[in-house]
Amino acid sequence: MQAMPGYDAPGLVELLRTSRRAVAFTGAGISTESGIPDFRSPGGVWTRYDPSEYTFDRYVASAQVRANSWAMRREFFAHNAQPNAAHRALAQLEEAGHAAGVITQNIDGLHQLAGSSPVVEVHGTAREVMCIGLAPRDGTPDGCGFTAPYTWGEEQVEAGDPDPHCPVCGGLVKSATVSFGQMLFPGVVQQAVELVSAADLVIAVGSSLQVFPAADLPVQGVKAGAALVIINDEPTPLDGIADLVVRGRAAEVLGPAVAEALES
Ligand code: NAD
Repeated sequence: MQAMPGYDAPGLVELLRTSRRAVAFTGAGISTESGIPDFRSPGGVWTRYDPSEYTFDRYVASAQVRANSWAMRREFFAHNAQPNAAHRALAQLEEAGHAAGVITQNIDGLHQLAGSSPVVEVHGTAREVMCIGLAPRDGTPDGCGFTAPYTWGEEQVEAGDPDPHCPVCGGLVKSATVSFGQMLFPGVVQQAVELVSAADLVIAVGSSLQVFPAADLPVQGVKAGAALVIINDEPTPLDGIADLVVRGRAAEVLGPAVAEALES
């Protein structure tokens, strides 16, 4: 493996090799090598869509915002992204008995496709849609329980309905993601806290570690006694408390490091 400035490759391999309950905490950066842009990449989603338009309240209030959101989702899935070497490495680490699961801020479902389990999705999933009710308030979905794969929305839009409603109760339907201004799904943070609190190693990968409260989860792991490794291509606010910081690309670093850890 090529050494990078300040990159203690043997140190990373040793931490992975000796871990028994590692938990990965991943962000948009783990999926850029699968072709899904993060928030800041040139050409990324938010350089073409205005985030202030895509709040939960705007979604509820505006049929136009809902129609634009379906178009955005369609674009998200259009290129059929697949897990990359970093997603696969984390699944292999788990399969070999070194890791206990993944907590992700991502909505792309690539960890599940790679074989990780459990995967705690703190910001929900774009692979499903859900009824959020007729007039949800305070950023809280208030639906009837209807859910469907994301393809349901695509089918409705293709059939000529730009703003599909719930087939059960007539409520609004939204991707099962946590939008700006939306409350996190109940129980999910608790599940993430439990997972990270039992970890012996937290591997933070491809996250700017700036979106709270999710970014507090690695800190909780450290407070509970876990070592912390940060793999990111730019500095993060948590670098100072990490046992090891690897400045590099997720797939290029994790793929070979996990392979070496599992060989030794
Ligand atoms: P972020 O965009 O704030 O940060 C991503 C970080 O990863 C950045 O620091 C970036 O420099 C780094 N990075 C990019 N490519 C990398 C690579 N190949 N290897 C290593 N580092 C890389 O993302 P975030 O911290 O996850 O938070 C933003 C929010 O964006 C999250 O809530 C998430 O829900 C949402 N989001 C998700 C997806 C997805 O599901 N794939 C995509 C875009 C945004």
